[in-house]
Amino acid sequence: MPKHPSLSAPRLPLNRLALNPLEKMGRNEQCWCLSGKKYKFCHLDRETQKGGNVFDSEQKMLNEMRQGYCSFPGPVPESPCSSKITKAHTVQKNGGMAAISEENHVLSVKPVMKEMIATNGNPQPRRVGVNLASVFPGFCSYHDSELFKKIEGKTLQLEAETAFLFSYRAVAYEAFSKAAQQRFYTHLRDGDKGMPFWKQVQLQSLLYDMHIGIEIGLREIGDWKKQFDEQLLSGPQETFHFAIFRFDRVLPVVACGAFHPEFDFEGARLQQLGQDKFPLDHITLTVTAFDGSTIAVFGWIGPVDGPAHELVSSYQNVDENRKADALLRLLFIHTDNLFLRPSWWTELPDDKKRTLNDMTRSGSHVQARTGRELSDDRKKFLAAGVVESRLG
Ligand SMILES: [Zn+2]
Ligand SMILES: [Zn+2]
Repeated sequence: MPKHPSLSAPRLPLNRLALNPLEKMGRNEQCWCLSGKKYKFCHLDRETQKGGNVFDSEQKMLNEMRQGYCSFPGPVPESPCSSKITKAHTVQKNGGMAAISEENHVLSVKPVMKEMIATNGNPQPRRVGVNLASVFPGFCSYHDSELFKKIEGKTLQLEAETAFLFSYRAVAYEAFSKAAQQRFYTHLRDGDKGMPFWKQVQLQSLLYDMHIGIEIGLREIGDWKKQFDEQLLSGPQETFHFAIFRFDRVLPVVACGAFHPEFDFEGARLQQLGQDKFPLDHITLTVTAFDGSTIAVFGWIGPVDGPAHELVSSYQNVDENRKADALLRLLFIHTDNLFLRPSWWTELPDDKKRTLNDMTRSGSHVQARTGRELSDDRKKFLAAGVVESRLG
């Protein structure tokens, strides 16, 4: 298997040095924080400006997440959008969600600020109603019901066309969240109002690094979305690959997301993030339930032998009775659009909860991934076996 070229590419230096913070500037000069605004409209007298707080910022983020649009590539005359943007479920409400919910609730691993603070940065999964779990305003009501008919019924054909629809929805969701994240970022830049100069520098430098990451992420997801859009209109082509695994029971988790495969299940690095020379492989993963059993659907557009393929073959090599746990690891590491059955989580011993919680925080500014996260440490979380798999 050829190694991905990103593995030998130099990593991007941290961009912190690109900021040249100045305590005094000409009023009409471009501000040192690189906001693109003139100094007089930006950091002049910032120390004495009245600031908001983290809860205001969080509210702004939530508001950004409510700004909807339809992800369908258009306009296509035969398939016009309806006027209503709907709360589209990334995991089918009457299928996967219903299979793991209790009293119409599931647990979400996406933290909210209040709990972050209350728990000193160690929040636990929190209860959310199934109507709100996994939804995003990313489709008009017409396309939300028309496009996904084949994966919204009671039963499911395991084939390229259905696998593609799962992948398409995951990519649309990621594109939506990344765009909301970028709009939120512009609000965060005002978060240093009322702070002394050195603190302004600290925050703006951190945000500048984040901004580089968000820009790269947006550009990449934009490229993936474009490729998926083309195949949505034409039908899946041979560059679309998938792998579907069906388990012998319902697992207590559902999820939907897209990510860069970074390591395989033995901890070997598949591609290197943080370089901008070579495009990175992506993969989508949806976990939901049909007919009393959980299915995991991987999908990607790209080379048949790249990092996405290597991740999937490494998954195939995992022992049958360890596949459910390996899937669990992958989900906790790579997506926060992940939902749990409440009683399953509550009954887990504390050390297992800690292991999974730690995984959700890997790959951040604070904790880079090492490859050990995915490899099997023999901890047992789920008992289940794979009874059917389909590759294409
Ligand atoms: Zn500024
Ligand atoms: Zn539409």
